[in-house]
Amino acid sequence: MSRCLSIAPRPHADELLSSWQGRVACHYGMTREALGRWIGLAPQHAAPGGFAAADYAPAAEVLAAWSRACRLNPARIDDLALRRSGRMLDRHVWAREAGGVFVGYAFCPACLEEDAAAGRDQYFRRRWLQIEALLCERHDRLLVEACQYCGAGEGLRLAFHVGQARLVCRRCGAVIGRAAIERREPSPQATAIFGALGAREPDEAVMATACLLWSLLRPGMPPRPVIFCLLEETPALGGAPRDCKAPLSSASRDWRLTTWIAVAQLLDRAGARDVFGAPRFEIEQLKTWTRSRPAQLASRTAISTRSASAYASLAENILASPEWRSRPSAATARERLLGRLMREALSPGGARRPAIKGERPGIEGERRRKIRRLGTLSSD
Ligand SMILES: [Zn+2]
Ligand SMILES: [Zn+2]
Repeated sequence: MSRCLSIAPRPHADELLSSWQGRVACHYGMTREALGRWIGLAPQHAAPGGFAAADYAPAAEVLAAWSRACRLNPARIDDLALRRSGRMLDRHVWAREAGGVFVGYAFCPACLEEDAAAGRDQYFRRRWLQIEALLCERHDRLLVEACQYCGAGEGLRLAFHVGQARLVCRRCGAVIGRAAIERREPSPQATAIFGALGAREPDEAVMATACLLWSLLRPGMPPRPVIFCLLEETPALGGAPRDCKAPLSSASRDWRLTTWIAVAQLLDRAGARDVFGAPRFEIEQLKTWTRSRPAQLASRTAISTRSASAYASLAENILASPEWRSRPSAATARERLLGRLMREALSPGGARRPAIKGERPGIEGERRRKIRRLGTLSSD
């Protein structure tokens, strides 16, 4: 059964769909999922799982039900779906809301502080989930993901507070952006680079380099992502990309920042080498470390394998050799002699290499002696 709400806050033009749905639900003391069911959505549509279903390409039923319940023009709600912007899914940070908790949403505390000061609900901006958005364009400050009071990055909840919806830390309950916040801001030079990187949508070279950085080094090398080769210290892997094919979409804010710096160094973008230094390795070197072993090694192994008849011939040569016929009687000495004769025969160009069909043993050795003599003459 579909129901209508008597009043509902309007979405902001720059707001995420999940943020608006959360605010509406918050005003009714519910979660987005509970309100979705109340307005008549099936359970799978009331709580769409993941970023794609919730914010990027929500189902038509979801958009229709929410616009009907909130008495809003369906086109206005439809415009909140991020796919309408024409951006690809992997150009967004895949933040997700579940059970009323917003996880992986980067935010600018100063913007949220302004919301509170203006007496309006706090809300998540669409821009904050673009993978190149490292700074708030309005305040020129790094976006953050963790609570500045307790340091937890476990997500935020919307809570009704003095007539408005407020974002609070899931763990400690602190209202985000409320008090003066002490944080380590990057240097003005670094801030300028983050601003330049965030000024346009990432191109294919950026996307490919980010993927390269999160590829694993090839077998035989330490089992780590490539990006570790560029870092001075080995950091904790917490917050590492959930999907290594889309690292900028699925990593924490800290790993996103580290990845962006490495990408800018490798591609020599935005003056990153002047501020963060040249990368420890160039991009072509890193690429070779992700490839499987060179093909010629495999073919060399194949060449070294001889046929069964060649090994039989090799054994016959050893048994017929004068050294083996005059072998010592002591077993240990005999074993040692046999080991040496086999080593010599198996070594590349060994004097007792097995005869190949049609080739007379002895000629090869004679030819080699002649070549050696010629070599000696020519070097005089
Ligand atoms: Zn801001
Ligand atoms: Zn907290």
